[in-house]
Amino acid sequence: MPDTEVKTEKTPFKSDLLKGKKGLVVGVANKRSIAWGIAQALSNHGAQLAFTYQGDRLKESVAELAATLPGKSPLYPCDVTKDDEVKKVFEGLSQEFGSLHFLVHAVAFAKKEDLDGRTIDTAKDGFQIALDVSSYSLIALAKAAEPLLEKEGGSIVALTYLGSEKVVPNYNVMGIAKAALESAIRYLAADLGKKNIRVNGVSAGPVSTLAARGISGFTIMLEGHRNRAALKRNVEVEEVANTAFFLLSPLSSGITGEIIYCDAGYRIMGF
Ligand code: NAP
Repeated sequence: MPDTEVKTEKTPFKSDLLKGKKGLVVGVANKRSIAWGIAQALSNHGAQLAFTYQGDRLKESVAELAATLPGKSPLYPCDVTKDDEVKKVFEGLSQEFGSLHFLVHAVAFAKKEDLDGRTIDTAKDGFQIALDVSSYSLIALAKAAEPLLEKEGGSIVALTYLGSEKVVPNYNVMGIAKAALESAIRYLAADLGKKNIRVNGVSAGPVSTLAARGISGFTIMLEGHRNRAALKRNVEVEEVANTAFFLLSPLSSGITGEIIYCDAGYRIMGF
């Protein structure tokens, strides 16, 4: 443990900046999910939100969380690897919302055995699953969202991690998937810029969530991060959420194709 334990501001910032704006949040599993933190931040600034859930297993938990937000939040089943489910989400949104102002992509998956040991042992099917769920899904969702986002202009944010550019033990195939995701962010930003749709990424420091706990040695990662980061602590989910809010709001209207690091200053440290 570091000798300085810094408390961060948890009181939510509120405004009407996103009043009248509508967004889709993909990737809420439970109350610890980064996507849920982002949803709360967006709602605190007046946005109306729709959510997807992966299969009936998560329906109840997502519905319970969504019910705590003001206004009606449409819910859609969506396994991002299933084209027909992605299509149905946007057909539903077209009916419910008519237009869309933002999309949050907070989805990643790799097989348990591929988040441990050597990257060289990754089998083709594990590689394909990780890249399909964690990288291609951004392209699929952006393409399906384009007709709704282009109506009034919009913003897309995807969650990524430093393991895309630096070797992080056990992150393995997910690092490769995040590298593809970050590259996709830039290419999509170039494709969609002329339609006034921005695409950016938030690279978050480690946060204890369901997905993160699937990475072997995640607790050691949290501790190492805390000890080395410039701010000498881990990031709070609220801080990641506020960064996403900034990128989804008009405050960042001149920014596209970028990856913003919300990592308590871990990445800048050389030693
Ligand atoms: P999380 O709460 O477990 O969220 C991951 C979400 O991805 C879950 O809702 C999961 O649903 C969903 N998902 C997996 N496969 C899917 C599929 N085929 N179709 C639709 N949804 C699917 O974990 P999280 O940490 O908040 O992750 C959100 C994002 O943040 C991910 O992109 C992650 O890589 C990124 N990120 C996390 C950290 C961290 O330390 N936590 C740091 C940097 C970036 P199921 O539960 O049903 O699988």
